[in-house]
Amino acid sequence: MPQPKRPPPPRLETMAMADQSLVCDFCNAPTPAAKLTAFRCADFPRRVMVRDRIVLVETCSCHGPIDLRPTDRVIEQNVIGAWMACPRCRRAIAAGDRPRLARIAVESGHLEPPPVPSLLASPDDLAAHLPADPMALVAAQHLAFWLHREP
Ligand SMILES: [Zn+2]
Ligand SMILES: [Zn+2]
Repeated sequence: MPQPKRPPPPRLETMAMADQSLVCDFCNAPTPAAKLTAFRCADFPRRVMVRDRIVLVETCSCHGPIDLRPTDRVIEQNVIGAWMACPRCRRAIAAGDRPRLARIAVESGHLEPPPVPSLLASPDDLAAHLPADPMALVAAQHLAFWLHREP
């Protein structure tokens, strides 16, 4: 009996590309390393829970922990180190303009689509799990940055 075919090994293009172009942590736009600016940010934990086929995403576990249920599948993540910003995002961050930063990210066309269906826990209102459309997801990711940003 013939052996089942193995899938081809993943290609390792990303390593070669990393030298030339990285991505902005705020809008995901490919950006030459020399044009990225680092913004200091404290490390923080974040969890993603799968509950009844719904993905629940925390902004961060310290400011807005979601109450776990025994049946939840939990993925723990640590967001570590400085966040790198492209020139457009850097200007919005320097101006403290959160709505502009979110708009840049959504309009960049480089964001990964959120897992579907997914909900977002906001530190402002933990009971309300918001539908994680791209704008809400980006706003939550940026909020985590603003909450943990270091001077
Ligand atoms: Zn950017
Ligand atoms: Zn936090």
